[in-house]
Amino acid sequence: MPAYIQARNVRLTFRPPNRAAVIALDAFDMDVQEGEFLSIVGPSGCGKSTFLNVLLGLIKPDSGEVSMRGRKITGPGSERAMVFQEFGLLPWRTVAHNIELGLELKRAAAAKRRHVSERLISLVGLAGFENHYPHELSGGMKQRVGLARALATDPEVLLMDEPFAALDAQTRDLMQVELLRIWREARKTVLFVTHQIDEAIYLSDRVLVMSKRPGRTKKIFEIKLPRPRDYEMRVTPEFNDLKLEIWNTLKDEIVI
Ligand code: ADP
Ligand code: MG
Repeated sequence: MPAYIQARNVRLTFRPPNRAAVIALDAFDMDVQEGEFLSIVGPSGCGKSTFLNVLLGLIKPDSGEVSMRGRKITGPGSERAMVFQEFGLLPWRTVAHNIELGLELKRAAAAKRRHVSERLISLVGLAGFENHYPHELSGGMKQRVGLARALATDPEVLLMDEPFAALDAQTRDLMQVELLRIWREARKTVLFVTHQIDEAIYLSDRVLVMSKRPGRTKKIFEIKLPRPRDYEMRVTPEFNDLKLEIWNTLKDEIVI
């Protein structure tokens, strides 16, 4: 039985015109279980975003297999959605209309779109801001809109590429708490790329450490901390032991 999401022996080369080819991923394997929260950490340029784009169906590997529910991923599909670091909101659309974008593209009726956006606005804690424009929102609020927009088409899998990297430290901490609540309520599978080891441990069922480029899975850490998780957990010896172990695995891969 293949895993829910499975990557086997994936190799991916970028061949920019007039420049040397770059092997972004090589011999890359990973398994993701349905409903799990999996974080990926790895040095800059090791192929994390590349892999999420392969899962989204935007780029194809040279060789190897990437599948979901046993079916090869060959292109974009509504069961997979991405949340970006830069939010990717359309400045001329209100919060509600940004959230409804994917449903409009799927030609959903206006009443259905409104029903979905109302539910999501409440889920991500933006009630009262439906008619605001992106420039009127804080960074944390913009990312809530980004998250609601990704959830609007009811995907099974959320691909999150450093979604909190543009937020200040306190907003980031609060957004992590919110994300766990939303993950629990919306019951999605999440693949979460981050540079912050704390964030990866706090959120995840497992943390996957990638090697430097060409990226492959170096080591996987099971995070057995009980859920629901609270902030105090981050200052326990168990948490710090994990943090040190993950850092020790990651640090040899970082080239400066
Ligand atoms: P990460 O997200 O882990 O920081 P990326 O997946 O963005 O890394 O990139 C992996 C490698 O592939 C990097 O060396 C990057 O420069 C290269 N790369 C990414 N996208 C492209 C592209 N469209 N064309 C050429 N090279 C690319
Ligand atoms: Mg990246």
